Amino acid sequence: MFGLIGHSTSFQDARRKAHDLGFDHIAKGDLDVWCSAPPQLVEHVEVESAVGKTIRGAYIDSCFVPEMLGRFKTARRKVLNAMELAQKKGIDISALGGFTSIIFENFNLLNHQHVRSTMLDWTRFTTGNTHTAWVISRQLEINAPKVGIDLKQSRVAVVGATGDIGSAVCRWLVSRSGVKEISLVARQQEPLTQLRDELGGGEIHSLEEALPQADAVIWVASLPKTLEIDSTTLKKPCLMIDGGYPKNLGVKFAGREVHVLNGGIVEFFKDIGWNMMELAEMDKPQRQMFACFAEAMLLEFEDCYTNFSWGRNNITLEKMDFIGEASVRHGFSTLNLKESCQAAIA
Ligand code: NDP
Repeated sequence: MFGLIGHSTSFQDARRKAHDLGFDHIAKGDLDVWCSAPPQLVEHVEVESAVGKTIRGAYIDSCFVPEMLGRFKTARRKVLNAMELAQKKGIDISALGGFTSIIFENFNLLNHQHVRSTMLDWTRFTTGNTHTAWVISRQLEINAPKVGIDLKQSRVAVVGATGDIGSAVCRWLVSRSGVKEISLVARQQEPLTQLRDELGGGEIHSLEEALPQADAVIWVASLPKTLEIDSTTLKKPCLMIDGGYPKNLGVKFAGREVHVLNGGIVEFFKDIGWNMMELAEMDKPQRQMFACFAEAMLLEFEDCYTNFSWGRNNITLEKMDFIGEASVRHGFSTLNLKESCQAAIA
């Protein structure tokens, strides 16, 4: 059985969802009440892949909301409790969605393997980042030509290049996509230098230097709310792939010949019959989902029970090939620019 561990996009959405599910006592509670609410297994689902394999899964809401990010101990407890519940329910492989994988890594939850009487088995969890990196790389390759960008003649800026997803995307761009030039963007210089050495190429640029030179931008860092960038300085055309969470590049950048695509999203070939993506602001919540969630489904389809994506900067091209081939075979496709959208925002 596969599992998806997620959370609502805001406290307001979480309350609405709790009300819809009949958890009125929690729905009415303030943030303090929500801080002590346990995780909930809210839905079971059965999915048949394009090659006829059927798997079962469950969605666990961690009852975390982004408003809790500043409460370090609460955020840590929410993620660990949700993982414990997944393990106790016998889920073989669960994806850590949304902020849960970031909390896991940044708050060093590897040091917290004991949750009450449960010893967490890390092999039952995956960040889903390998599939996310593969999907974002393919979104670039598929959509750049659609808006008149020839990657072999282009510069691609990767914002968040030294991150888990960003570094994997950079490896793919250098070895597989044949892009002409890459700008590597992050705040800390030492990891950037190490990455450039590993890649054997790429140029380290500040955000302000990188954006006006880029034909395509892959954004795999959370976007600071206060960030102000003059979108008139961007190249035309420019393809921006918003791989961060939450996805907010569209409101900042979309405009004449600046094409913003939600990154790391896949679409299944048929309706799944679940409710869990209704609040994730997907255009087609019955088919579309975060690529990290789909990774848990793919591992289940493939009977591959291991923490496939784990730790930082461990994503290899071979793993991206494996998960990418499984993704296509079982009926997922990447989210692409809509024909109408290409015309509308041009
Ligand atoms: P990591 O923490 O591994 O990497 C984050 C990267 O962003 C680092 O290179 C970091 O470097 C850089 N960064 C952070 N802040 C800034 C900034 N203000 N300006 C420039 N660079 C910055 O994260 P992941 O690779 O795991 O995830 C990256 C993003 O992808 C996250 O926003 C995550 O939520 C999202 N994500 C989306 C998914 C989806 O849509 N399907 C699935 C999984 C994750 P430095 O600290 O040196 O600046």
